[in-house]
Amino acid sequence: MLSEFDLIKHYFNRDRPARATLGIGDDCALLTPTPGMQMAISSDMLVEGRHFFAGAEPVQLGHKCLAVNLSDLAAMGARPVACTLALALPAAERDWLHGFSTGLFALADAHDCELIGGDTTKGPLNICITVFGELQPGHALRRDAAKVGDDIWISGTLGDARLALAGYLNEVPLDEASLRAAAVRMHAPTPRVELGMLLAQQRVAHAAIDISDGLVGDLGHILARSRVGATLDVDALPAGDVLATRDTALRRAYTAAGGDDYELCFTAPASARAAVLAAAGSVATPVTRVGRIEAEPGLRLVDAAGHALDLKLSSFDHFTS
Ligand code: ADP
Ligand code: MG
Repeated sequence: MLSEFDLIKHYFNRDRPARATLGIGDDCALLTPTPGMQMAISSDMLVEGRHFFAGAEPVQLGHKCLAVNLSDLAAMGARPVACTLALALPAAERDWLHGFSTGLFALADAHDCELIGGDTTKGPLNICITVFGELQPGHALRRDAAKVGDDIWISGTLGDARLALAGYLNEVPLDEASLRAAAVRMHAPTPRVELGMLLAQQRVAHAAIDISDGLVGDLGHILARSRVGATLDVDALPAGDVLATRDTALRRAYTAAGGDDYELCFTAPASARAAVLAAAGSVATPVTRVGRIEAEPGLRLVDAAGHALDLKLSSFDHFTS
């Protein structure tokens, strides 16, 4: 039987910390901020049966629970520095812990994000990560910073994670190969860390948010906080590879309000179009221009011809869904 302390030592405590002044093993970790930098801090909790299916593959779960947190740093434009992990586990199973920590550290190492502490307890599977990032004061891509006339941009593609969920729930018929392909986006989202950092560092973008609950709802947060409105060209939204092969109604619904995408939605002045494309190109992240920030409040959805679309969309909400 693994004790709590063996478990931490074996699966989560690695070599000497590189970034933290003091890492795992004391009452607190010690982080020394880079002089003059601001810290960006965010937590995201994943609960079994709520955010992922019971029996979820542990390597993917380790990846995803850090990915959704790094996505928040990306949406602020911050460079990842460190993270903590609070874990409730029904049992200390070696195979599960090995897989989970492998997935987590692979992504953490790819982004130089050091695990510096956490908490471990027995209980229903529940994973809460807190990430710490750094950015220059004044560079954060805040939700309240969109300006009238800004373009609205999306990184990557949308909707395949939602399509995979629909496949698993038998809401939409999906053959096995399509489900497997779409499910990659659901299980292994790519946090757009480099793009977010560049957009912030180069002062190219104004506002940003990461798309976790569906674009329409998440963009709505930018509009509300910035006290502006927008027109969104739903047919310009970049669909995931699998969703792109489906009919227009499904494509519109899942790109506009699918959820679990972890792409960035950001706004930038029209004068910065070339700079946005150059920044995105330099980190090999595709970006698509999908709309415009306007003074008139509210979000107007239009089709490729500019005609109003009356889509019945709702973003995900844990207490009403
Ligand atoms: P305390 O009782 O003071 O809260 P713990 O005994 O829970 O400390 O944890 C011992 C050390 O291990 C602490 O440094 C804590 O941050 C770290 N730790 C506990 N659980 C985890 C985990 N799941 N991942 C990383 N570090 C952990
Ligand atoms: Mg403790």
